[in-house]
Amino acid sequence: MPVSRHPHAPGDIVTPERDITHAHFRPGDQVVILKGVAGSELWGDAYKVVTPSWHTPTDEDGWRLFDPSGGERTYITAHPRYLVHLSSRCPDCLIYQQALRTYLVTRLAGADEDIDCGWYSVTHLNQVVHVADARGGK
Ligand SMILES: [Zn+2]
Repeated sequence: MPVSRHPHAPGDIVTPERDITHAHFRPGDQVVILKGVAGSELWGDAYKVVTPSWHTPTDEDGWRLFDPSGGERTYITAHPRYLVHLSSRCPDCLIYQQALRTYLVTRLAGADEDIDCGWYSVTHLNQVVHVADARGGK
């Protein structure tokens, strides 16, 4: 889905405050990193959790993810707080997802296009980094 960054996309105040442990995720889990809004719903990219991996931008434990459509970036490493279980039966992830939806959809409702908020980038070491974690200057 080709989407471009929205010029008025709000900053993410929800994800940086999220309290989730590394052990919340397990190899084999299906997860999504939420990146924006499509209509009144959140959208993101889906991955499969592969194995524990050091997340260098935060110097904390992260997870290596398999991206089935990643091309040369088939494997990327992300911080646990970026990840959401695709299963709707995970209350912890659901709470975060609903908080993010409430925050974003109220601000972006009525946009005609799908919106990428531009919160995430990928380093040359294939580490996914949230804009709030990139400010550390690493
Ligand atoms: Zn979860």
